[in-house]
Amino acid sequence: MSFVIKCMDCNHTTNYYPSSTTCPRCDSQWREVEYDYEEVKKIWETQLKNRNFNLWRYKELLPIRNPNPALSLGEGGTPLIQAVNLGLMLGCQNLYIKDERQGPTSSFKDRQASITISALKEAGITEMVAASTGNVAIAYSAYAARAGIKLWAFVTSLVPAVKMREIALYGSQVVKVTGSYDQAKQVASEFARQRNLYQDMGARTITSIEAMKTIAFEIAEQLTNLHGPVITEDGRSVMRTPDWYVQAISGGMGPIGVYKGFRELKQMGMIDKIPALAPIQAAGCAPMADSWKQGLETATPVKNPKTHIETLATGDPGRAYQVLKSRVDETHGAFESVSDEDAFRAMHVLAKMEGISAEPAAGVAFAGLFQLIRAGIIKPTDTVVINCTGHTMPAEQFILGDNWTRDVVFPTATKLDTPEDGLLSALNQVAPERFPKIAIVEDTLEARRLIRRILQSQGSFTILEASNGREGLDLIQKELPDLVILDMMMPEMDGFSVIEALKANPQTASIPVIVATAKELTMDEKKRLDGQIQALMQKGDFLNDEFLDEVRSLIK
Ligand SMILES: *Cc1c(COP(=O)(O)O)cnc(C)c1O
Ligand SMILES: [Zn+2]
Repeated sequence: MSFVIKCMDCNHTTNYYPSSTTCPRCDSQWREVEYDYEEVKKIWETQLKNRNFNLWRYKELLPIRNPNPALSLGEGGTPLIQAVNLGLMLGCQNLYIKDERQGPTSSFKDRQASITISALKEAGITEMVAASTGNVAIAYSAYAARAGIKLWAFVTSLVPAVKMREIALYGSQVVKVTGSYDQAKQVASEFARQRNLYQDMGARTITSIEAMKTIAFEIAEQLTNLHGPVITEDGRSVMRTPDWYVQAISGGMGPIGVYKGFRELKQMGMIDKIPALAPIQAAGCAPMADSWKQGLETATPVKNPKTHIETLATGDPGRAYQVLKSRVDETHGAFESVSDEDAFRAMHVLAKMEGISAEPAAGVAFAGLFQLIRAGIIKPTDTVVINCTGHTMPAEQFILGDNWTRDVVFPTATKLDTPEDGLLSALNQVAPERFPKIAIVEDTLEARRLIRRILQSQGSFTILEASNGREGLDLIQKELPDLVILDMMMPEMDGFSVIEALKANPQTASIPVIVATAKELTMDEKKRLDGQIQALMQKGDFLNDEFLDEVRSLIK
């Protein structure tokens, strides 16, 4: 398939050579690939559905002339997973996780490395340089190893040692730079310049943007498979797209590429609507989010990033900010920033609610999503796709602390012990301490399950359930829980009567009660509860830290 490289500043077009990185006419480093979209559309309409689900199914829109299956590690084609529990908890039910953990090196950088290394191989280039906060270097290392290309990986000394070792394992040369990520990039550039080596330029790298596009293509195909095509106002049947694409960013390459993918689908008439972009940054290094919120046209660099989340530590985004800002504004999206603590908490919630363990950078994306939903920017009915990446190892100390295991020391056998006795007494050491007991009295099964999950995502509790007021009262009187979460409108016996009965019995009178109700209470009803309960919560409002803080403070 034919394609040209077009300068974003002067529109000059050239052929593609990976080693030439600037426009020959105006010297701009910002250029894009342009394809013959009419032609591609014709091919895709008949052939796309018969191809394997990996990123090479989109080969006509990739800047590779002859895809080489020998270099492939099965990149792309990651699942789109509906986050049912998280969606319920957030009151935003159409929430989908693009599970980029399931790529060959557990991050969406696989796509970038696969396409770039393919282009280098095709051009006969055998050595390259990349500065990285970890995941880029890991992905490049894997593909470079396969292609027999030598990689010089410049990483900052803050990159977790496990990630550095993984890079070295693939045979790459790791160069550790003591300094910020921006400084590591400077050192890498100087090294590449002196030796005249190919260097990855982040969002300015043609192949990187082209690789990220495939995320957009896959999302559109997957949503269409799940929910069918969309019929436009003028009666055409097109692929379904989400309302939002949410991703944690460092240099912004991901969303810039994803935007280009959706734009190309639109140019081909295959979709009708480009999703709003929500790029999320770590608050300790949020030059783009901060500058956007101040309405600035150029980003104010952050000289000393203050975040534990090294993956996202681009302090000076340069012109990537202008490019991404124009995409965000055009799609009516929003930049957001979140604290490290909120990101770690979001990781924990995601793991416990959905069984998905993601790395802290992905935690940033989820924490950003929570904030945008709470702020009403993402609406409850919106369809949201969020990019999720793996590599959890470095995060454990931050989210789990030191007390997350129970150790069993297997006793050395004496003459008297049989091995079984030894094992049994060893297991007694694991007997759980008594966890705080919480009773949920609630007539809808779904609400009970949701409250249970939210509680379980935040700590260790023994949770008891009752499905009406009468049953609830019996349960509370028998079990004497540390806390009751009570619905008001229930069959048999309503919440008001349960509270009256609890207060009338000295054994249960002092058990704290949180009322969770779906319906707005009248002034009269509120008055009846006054002084009788500890907190009143609206359902659907549960991610609210208030609820969890309340629970924690009441069961001390
Ligand atoms: C690289 C990376 C990012 C940042 O992506 P950009 O689009 O380059 O800003 C976010 N999360 C993870 C897990 C990454 O590996
Ligand atoms: Zn130019």
